[in-house]
Amino acid sequence: MNPPAPLTALLRRRLLSWYARSARPLPWRRDADPFRVWVAETMLQQTTMAAVQPRYEDFLRRFPDVRALARARESEVLRAWAGLGYYARARNLRSAARLIAARPDGDFPRDRDGWLDLPGVGRYIAAAVASIAFGRPYAVLDGNVTRVICRLLAIRADARRPATQRRLETLAQDLLDPRHPGDWNQAVMELGEVVCTPQNPKCGACPLGGLCAAKEMGLQERLPLLGPRIAPRDLNLTCLWIERGSRILLWKRGPDELLLKGHWGLPEAERMRARIGPRVQTLRHSITRYRISVSLRKAELIGPRPPQTRWVARSRLKDFLVSSLWLKLLRD
Ligand code: SF4
Repeated sequence: MNPPAPLTALLRRRLLSWYARSARPLPWRRDADPFRVWVAETMLQQTTMAAVQPRYEDFLRRFPDVRALARARESEVLRAWAGLGYYARARNLRSAARLIAARPDGDFPRDRDGWLDLPGVGRYIAAAVASIAFGRPYAVLDGNVTRVICRLLAIRADARRPATQRRLETLAQDLLDPRHPGDWNQAVMELGEVVCTPQNPKCGACPLGGLCAAKEMGLQERLPLLGPRIAPRDLNLTCLWIERGSRILLWKRGPDELLLKGHWGLPEAERMRARIGPRVQTLRHSITRYRISVSLRKAELIGPRPPQTRWVARSRLKDFLVSSLWLKLLRD
């Protein structure tokens, strides 16, 4: 159930005034420049704030704006990303920078859907950048926001279930202050990070203490409820190594593929007419909830090259959006 309107208004006032007084002076909060916000939010995905802070300033010194990042070679971007892990984020950041720089106006998308069209940008980053940099009314939902909302409204459903996530998305959107969406999003995340922490929440110091259902019921240590994680799914692929001189046949994955839509990679056997030869190697790789095993086999193309494929020299791989899954094979 949604909180009544007067309660929502009070929550907004209290949390925003707490944030104005207490926000930590993090480097990406100095201004709401879209490039800075986007880089920070991308780095903060799956990496701690402590690890991100020093790398963030270095990265921006090296690539001060989107055009500098678009011009950079992939190897330079990956070097500047060293220490942050999950290098697909760096590759996607550069690919997206190139797309932005190539737009007729050369400018950033201003709305969430425009950001969602860019590689590596999911719902969280799109909502964060659109709200913080452009004042668009989109709520973010990450682990911190999930925890705060579940406690505030005493939600006793498994927060990992898709149905609960959808409900939380709606609640986060309803609670969002549409006049200050960027500050609101950052304030909820800040509260979850420093006050409404997973263990030992500091309810005595919480600006929402008097309004919190979990605190009133003594449930703050027990919420959110987190059921078992969804077991990873095993996926077995047979991919083909088809050479012509020094070039390799790459295949662009279509929009209906299960994963890595729009990425270039080695063709899957079932998508090609080919004479399949011996196995070259087997590779294991994980992407989101898939545990992938790739059996790589030498092959020869039968007939003409299919339209969604391209002969590519290894030195030109950097010009294509190629997942780390295949880069592991292609760079060996
Ligand atoms: S009162 Fe406690 S449980 Fe409730 S939002 Fe604040 S810190 Fe979290």
